[in-house]
Amino acid sequence: MEKIRVRFAPSPTGKLHVGGARTALFNWLWARHTGGTFVLRIEDTDTERSTQASVDQIISSLSWLGLDWDEGPKIGGEYGPYFQSQRLHHYEEKAQELIDKGAAYLCYCTPEELEAERERARRQGRAPGYTGRCRNLTEKDRVQLAAAGREPVVRLRVPAEGETVVDDLIRGRVVFKNNILDDFVILKSNGMPTYNYACVIDDHAMNITHIMRAEEHLSNTPRQILLYEALGYELPRFAHVPMILAPDRSKLSKRHGATSVEEFRHRGYLSKALVNFLSLLGWSPEGTDEIMPLDRIVAEFSLDRIAKTAAVFDVKKLTWMNGNYIRELPLAEIVTEVLPFMQKHGFIGAKATPAELELLTKSVKLTRDRAKTLEELVDVVSYFFSAEFQFEEKGVQKHFASAGAAVILETVKNLVSSVTSFDQQALEELYRARAKELGLKPAQLIHPTRLALSGRTIGPGLFELMELLGRDQCLVRLERALKFVQDELPAQLAAAEKGTE
Ligand code: GLU
Ligand code: ZN
Repeated sequence: MEKIRVRFAPSPTGKLHVGGARTALFNWLWARHTGGTFVLRIEDTDTERSTQASVDQIISSLSWLGLDWDEGPKIGGEYGPYFQSQRLHHYEEKAQELIDKGAAYLCYCTPEELEAERERARRQGRAPGYTGRCRNLTEKDRVQLAAAGREPVVRLRVPAEGETVVDDLIRGRVVFKNNILDDFVILKSNGMPTYNYACVIDDHAMNITHIMRAEEHLSNTPRQILLYEALGYELPRFAHVPMILAPDRSKLSKRHGATSVEEFRHRGYLSKALVNFLSLLGWSPEGTDEIMPLDRIVAEFSLDRIAKTAAVFDVKKLTWMNGNYIRELPLAEIVTEVLPFMQKHGFIGAKATPAELELLTKSVKLTRDRAKTLEELVDVVSYFFSAEFQFEEKGVQKHFASAGAAVILETVKNLVSSVTSFDQQALEELYRARAKELGLKPAQLIHPTRLALSGRTIGPGLFELMELLGRDQCLVRLERALKFVQDELPAQLAAAEKGTE
């Protein structure tokens, strides 16, 4: 059996976009599914736009997603180097071969001349491609032009007639008329290759068997095929994966919110959830399950279940999936994931103590089904780590503003100090008994207690929450709430009253 070799070939001109991540993922899945090789190649020949920071970003995003490469930056491999900027001699050598064969030629046109040509074409209603002015220059012409200081580019000689067919594994046969493909540049005057050219040289040199990439590259493929033919190379298989659109079916962009992998990471998405979500953008498993562990996705991944139609990037669905992973993954894993977020927000120091880790584990266990992202998880456990919270406004109106609130908080305080064993069960029994004695519903004690202890009106079961906080912390917070109700709230209410008069 043929050994599958696929590659992800990003240009390091920005962060790793979710679309790029999806392309990387599909290649990685195909390699892992088939026992093939996944290559990472950095296409950094656009020296003006490529940056080291982008290379680092792409590498860290891929690593975070768990998309490990078998050959590429940092690890090398037998087909290296894996940065195009370090492979320039290959491009020069092959361009010379093409020139020698007559398949390519030097073009000395200046940008002004080319612009004038395009302008003429526009006026005459023709397509604005290069007309082939330098196709048949003589040696003498070339010497003269060079002597005049003109620096040539190299162009491929494209047949004016006929058609080039892309036999795409996903899109089927796509036919391009050669007369719309002009003699395009393969080597710029500064010696740098163009994308279409470098890509073909490297995909061949690196023995790539399947080129899986975004649909926007489909229109580049006939030019690349002409290059394969001119170079006498065997064609790889092509598979163009469908576009990713925003829910309004426009192109996914910044105005739809986060678009880079890094942003999703910082907003508290788990890599497992993001990978699961991205795997379903254009691919679908046979069954109806959407939440799928990675090993199942690898096992089921196949090219014939990749759709032709655009996929919709619905962040609500991603968030839903993420919540699912936060609920279902092993507790210890979620604790590890949320810890850096707790540290970032200052709830836990740079070096977490065993006591902090224990509290984090217990509080995450109590609250994780209320959070869809790690940021939300920080929010729902925050009051276990700090009593510096504000009391929620609508809770204050409902549970603290009535005349009996102070008495209720006093009652709760007494109850908390007198309960013999400070655990859920004992607390619950005592709450029920005391409520009954006072002719109240248990809820009339429970709601104010929750607000006093957490600042909120919703949360996990109150008695579990109390047990985790411990008696002393509960007393401190009840005392604080009581002070608020007696000393601060009346003034606030009076001021509000005045404001509405
Ligand atoms: N550097 C190209 C890009 O980032 C690679 C396209 C391809 O996979 O051929 O779009
Ligand atoms: Zn020319």
